[in-house]
Parts: sequence; C-alpha cells; structure tokens
Amino acid sequence: MCTKHYNIEQKVEALNKLAQMKDLPELKTNVRQISDLTVCPFDGRPERECVDRQCISCGTESVRRMYQPLLIDLNGDDTDVKVGYHQWENAPEKYTNKEGKVIHSKRWKQIQKSARPEDLIDELSDDMKSFTSHQFRADFQNTMERNLMDNLPNDQCAVVMDFSQNIALQAQDEIESANWTTKQVTLHPIHIVRHSTNSRIQEPEIINESLILLSDSLAHDANTVFAFTNQLVRHLQDNPGPCKINVIHRFSDNCAQQYKCKDAFSHIGLLEKEHGIKLIYHFTESGHGKGPSDGLGAAIKRRLEQMILGGKVINDAYQAYLALVQSPPETKSGSQRILYMPAKAMSRAKPPKQTDIKTVPGTQSYHMVKTLPQDPSKLECSDLSCTCSVCIVAAMEGPCFYIKFLKGPRVHQLLPRGYSSSRNRASILYTIYSLIFCSCTKNINTLATINPLLHKGYLTSVADDFWKLAFSPFDCNVFNSFVNMILSVLQTIKNIIK
Ligand SMILES: [Zn+2]
Ligand SMILES: [Zn+2]
Ligand SMILES: [Zn+2]
Repeated sequence: MCTKHYNIEQKVEALNKLAQMKDLPELKTNVRQISDLTVCPFDGRPERECVDRQCISCGTESVRRMYQPLLIDLNGDDTDVKVGYHQWENAPEKYTNKEGKVIHSKRWKQIQKSARPEDLIDELSDDMKSFTSHQFRADFQNTMERNLMDNLPNDQCAVVMDFSQNIALQAQDEIESANWTTKQVTLHPIHIVRHSTNSRIQEPEIINESLILLSDSLAHDANTVFAFTNQLVRHLQDNPGPCKINVIHRFSDNCAQQYKCKDAFSHIGLLEKEHGIKLIYHFTESGHGKGPSDGLGAAIKRRLEQMILGGKVINDAYQAYLALVQSPPETKSGSQRILYMPAKAMSRAKPPKQTDIKTVPGTQSYHMVKTLPQDPSKLECSDLSCTCSVCIVAAMEGPCFYIKFLKGPRVHQLLPRGYSSSRNRASILYTIYSLIFCSCTKNINTLATINPLLHKGYLTSVADDFWKLAFSPFDCNVFNSFVNMILSVLQTIKNIIK
C-alpha cells in the first residue's frame, strides 16, 4: 500500500472508531467509498471531469456532509474529544557526521497524531482533492495492464520488471574467526506474458515466463536498466512465439533514477533501432508498483536460502547463478531463464553516452511513453496508458475505447532537432566516407607505401572528424565541410603521388 493510501486509511479508521463509540454504525466507511462520494454517481469508472475536480455537480464537500450526524453529536458534547491515528511523513532530519558537519536530510517516519474530529474531517475532505485522481490512475493503469495481458496480439508481448532488494550473502567458506563480510547481489526479475509457439489466432495460448537477471554490479540506475532491457529484447528475439515479436510493452514503477527519467526515455529509441522493434514504456501510479516481479524475486531468494541451509556454498552473484541453474525448482510455473551479468559485462553493456538530452517537462505525470514512429528524436507522452486494440494494433481503425478517460498525448523533443539515432547516422556517414575512399583505394595504398606517416596522419584526422560529426547534433554546414575535407585530403594525396 502506498503512503498516500495508508495515511488516508488511518484517518478513516480513526473516524470509524469514533462513529462506533457514538453509536453511529451507519457512518462506518472506507477510503474508496469516501472517494466515490466526491464524484458524480458512475457505473464502472467515474468521469474524468469529476476526478480532475472540474465538474460543478460534485466535489469534496460531500465528505463533511456525510459526517454531519457525527459533527452534530459532538456539538452536544462539552468535552473536547480528540482522535488518535498514525501517519507516514517524510520529515526533515539533521544529524552531525564524523567530521562534525551538520547534515540536513529527510527520512520517512511513522508519526503518532491526534486531532479534533472536526479538523480531521476537514483534512480528509482536503485530501480527497488529489486522492480521487490518484485512485483513478492506479485503477486505470491496473486495468490497462490486465487488459493487455488478456488480449495480447500475436506479435506483442508484455513484461513487468523491477529491482528486488539486493541479495545479501554472508561469506561461508571462511573459517569462523575470519572477518565476516557480506556480499551484495543485484536481483532484477522480469515477468513476461506472451504467446506460446503453438498459439493460433482462433486458439490463442498466452503463457507466463520469467527472466531473472543477476549481477555483481550494484548500480541500480537507468544504464543498468538499459543493459537488462537489452538482454530481455535479445531473449525475446531468440525465443519468438508463433511469429516475431514486434512490440514490447514494458511496465515498471516510476522510480526516477531507474525507469522514468530523460536517460531512460532516450534508451527507447536506441533499443528500437538496435533490434528493429517497437518499445512502449508504461508506468504504474506512484506508490503502486508492487507487481508479479516482486513474487519472482522473493521466490529466488527463498530458493537460495534453502540451498545455503542445505550446505551449498554461495558467496557471490556467479555462484548464486550456478546454484539456481543447477537445481531448478521442483514446482514449475512457467519457464524461467536465469542470466548472470558480471560487473565487467555491465559496464560494456552501457548505452552510448548521449549528450543534449532534454528533460521532459512533467515527466512524473506521464504513465505511457513511446517514440514517434516518424521521428525517434521525439517522444509521445500520455497521462494514462491505453492498451485497447485500436491503440495498440496498427491495422485497427476507429475511436479509442477509452477516449473519454484520456487526455491527448503530448509530444516532446527529447533529442536535439535533426537527430537521427547517432548509431544510425554514423553508419550513413561511414558509407559516404568509404564510398569516397574506396573510389581511390589505389592512391591511398600508394601513399601508405611511399609515406606511411602522412598516410596515418590523414586517416586519423579524417576519422577524428568523422566521429565528432557522428555523435553530435546534426549540422548541415559541419557535414558539408566534412565531405569537402575528405575530398581535399584525396586531392592532396593525388598531388603527392604525382
Ligand atoms: Zn495509493
Ligand atoms: Zn461530477
Ligand atoms: Zn485506446
């Protein structure tokens, strides 16, 4: 449960207890019922207008109205009644470090509170201004995830991923008196939902699989997520279903360091280019990220614990990987693939550094992000995901099934204008470069024999300019001067040989 939900639930429970005491059992309620009271009556899902507090027929005053009988009852009391409850608060904290410096930080703390019922009801009513939309988004994103998994097109696949808490391994092969050191292992499970190879359009067969990534690299950042997503795409391409997988829907929480930041967004285009697929990133509502990958992570940890108790020596990520692969679980629920990525491989698997990426304004408010097919330097960001067949199947036409709940997507320029994935641009430039050069290989080779130093110097300077050009924002003038430079180098070579 998220802190928002927990805090409001605490307030409602405190008022429930008081209502019970005052012999008003009909006031016993829960968070969802209170939230629903503040919007117009609905069937299934409230109207977006009500949720966004733009409707004139409903609003948060209904909370106070509902508690009216309790307020009247309390007015008759001459004692000043207070109710107690708990709250999670991100409270500022200061402490003095070893160097004697005072450090200011923030820490989540559970705090005991007490308030007059009247004030608590006002607070609750105030909370509902933003809580109802939080509840709405959490419900909506859940429905979209389920909807996709139930109606998955043949060439698409849905994955849910998250970091588990690191596995902490106590060194076991040391003698008891030796220093006990704890070794951490990164554990990143991915739950995969896709079609089996036997799946047919008339008889779809959707299966659950998992890919578990283990590493001794402890960085939990966007680059690590890039490396893991890259492995995932490779895994899916090596194990196609009834046909090649063309679209991957990736669900994750909205952790800004890992999944939901400008760097993570810039990786969508890179991965799409590299693998020739479409990637769509979906994000759960803030605080509601607990999903199937959680259970997978817990199961892996249990298996390792049992093996260690059984006497197996597991001291690091590689040994954990070997132990898991050598003794697969007895009860199998869907196929599971375990991959080990050494720290060295992780640093090699880092995405190419892209400078000039722009922060997407309002990043945290978006729940679905994808590249524009016609221009991968731009992102299409939507406040909510939609996985209805009109939105995810290119061949389907007609209005989106959920159109009345969705705001139109916004397009953001993520990379500098004129950008086409640097890797792609590098390959175009390389073709031009080799075409010009190949046309006079003979001359270049002759230069290599008569003046190897000059030959090398020319090649290095051309190559330097080439890489500079390939990995900076595209500029027509720079490009022209690059081509001219090659031509003039060639002319010089010709002259020398003459
Ligand atoms: Zn919540
Ligand atoms: Zn309304
Ligand atoms: Zn739709």
